[in-house]
This record gives sequence, structure tokens and C-alpha cells, in this order.
Amino acid sequence: MSEVSVTKNAEGPAPAGDQLVVLDNVNKHFGALHVLQDIDLTIRRGEVVVVIGPSGSGKSTLCRTINRLETIDSGSITIDGKPLPQEGRELARLRADVGMVFQSFNLFAHKTVLENVMLGQTKVRKTDKAAAEEKARTLLDRVGVGTQADKYPAQLSGGQQQRVAIARALAMDPKVMLFDEPTSALDPEMINEVLDVMQQLARDGMTMVVVTHEMGFARSAANRVVFMADGRIIEEAEPNQFFTNPRSDRAKDFLSKIL
Ligand code: ADP
Ligand code: MG
Repeated sequence: MSEVSVTKNAEGPAPAGDQLVVLDNVNKHFGALHVLQDIDLTIRRGEVVVVIGPSGSGKSTLCRTINRLETIDSGSITIDGKPLPQEGRELARLRADVGMVFQSFNLFAHKTVLENVMLGQTKVRKTDKAAAEEKARTLLDRVGVGTQADKYPAQLSGGQQQRVAIARALAMDPKVMLFDEPTSALDPEMINEVLDVMQQLARDGMTMVVVTHEMGFARSAANRVVFMADGRIIEEAEPNQFFTNPRSDRAKDFLSKIL
């Protein structure tokens, strides 16, 4: 694909940069299940792409292939023009470049909040301890949990834990952040505090892939909505167009159930 191709999100909230993540004809099976089918997806620097679709359509698997938590059977994935590394130190660096936030916060339970946000910096990025701590505190402040730094994850609310998880990913200076249903496990009153942090990140120009059922977030933060069903990308559109005038019957049917 060429750099001059017209972006689909010209009306989106942030201007799209060059191609950062490119999936080209990606296929993956789990046994007989063809979970990703001929996936072509380009994510430009600074772009916010929201992925929606029915349960089991392959959204999580798609995210997981991008930081190589899952391998693919065919096709290619490149980040910044480079193919995903296979193993070793390069793979650890990839996982730092591609920040991931899961539904279950996945913090280290036996480490404090501060230590959680320092760990990757000192281990993978080889940042010295003082600098790692300073950065961790700055990021914890930024996501609104600076006063919780010395607590353990279990002492925090779900919304606070998820914001720590975001800070931990950000501490690695990721090129792109993947969010896989980051608010699905939260009590309703905590959803917005996490979405607000994500919204701010989007405004600050972070490249983001967000799997979510939060359509308000999709409308206000996304440059583009990608609709998946049965392992395929069925439709891609600018959010306003997608929500008001979906083209495919699958998308119409899905939206009629959730909106
Ligand atoms: P989504 O996130 O859209 O709900 P997933 O990517 O989690 O979808 O799953 C897509 C399909 O792949 C589902 O049918 C799921 O059961 C199946 N699947 C996911 N992970 C595995 C796995 N590790 N082994 C076998 N099947 C899996
Ligand atoms: Mg999922």
C-alpha cells in the first residue's frame, strides 16, 4: 500500500499520520475455527480505531496478534514497517512498543502500584530506578491515581486499577496502545473515569486500537470504526457514518441490538 492512499478518516478528530500498524491478508485458525479471515487493516500514526462486533467475532484475537500474544498462520503484520519479531529480547521490546490493556487489569498483585508502573521501565527499557520512579509518579498523577502509589492493587477500585494498568503501559512509551474491552469488567460508576483517561490519550495523539461496546466513546474519540463478524472485517467507516448509516446487514443487525 502506498503512503498517498486517501485516508478513510479525513473528518476524524485527529489528522492521520503515516502507516504505523499494517495487517496484510492475515489468517489465523484455532483448530478448525477460522478465527481471522483475510484481515487487511492499516492503522495510521495518531489514529484511534474502535473495533466492534458480536462476541466471538475475533476482536480479542486480532488485538493479540498485533503484540504477538497469538501467532498467525498466513499474511503479515508490520509495525513501523518492520515485521513482528519472533522471540527473545526483540519480542519483549515489541510488547513494550505495543501497550496492551485488558478487561482484567492484570496488575502484579504482590507489587505496589508504583512498582507496577516502574517494572517494565527498569527491566525492558533499562531505565534507571530514579528516572523510572519519577516517570511512574508523573503518569500515575496523569491518570488520577497519584495518591495511590504505595498501595497494592487489591486495595484499589476496579476503575483505579485499570487506570494504573494504562499508566503501566504508557510508561514504556508505546507506539500504539491496544485496549481490549477495558471497561467491561468495571462497575458502571467507574466506566467513565477510565474512558476519560482514554479520551485524553486520544486527544494527546496516541495511536489506539480499542475494542469496546462503549458507543459514546466510539462516536467521540474514534477516527474510524471497524466492524467485525465471524473473523472478518465486514465494514470500516468514520463513526458518524457507521452509526447513522451502516452499509452491511450484519452491522445494522448488530447496532439494532446494542443501541
Ligand atoms: P471476541 O473478542 O470478538 O469475542 P475472540 O477473539 O475472543 O472473539 O474469539 C474468537 C473465536 O475464537 C471464539 O469462537 C473463541 O471461542 C475462539 N478462541 C479464542 N481464543 C481461543 C483459543 N486460545 N483456543 C481456541 N479457540 C479460541
Ligand atoms: Mg474479546
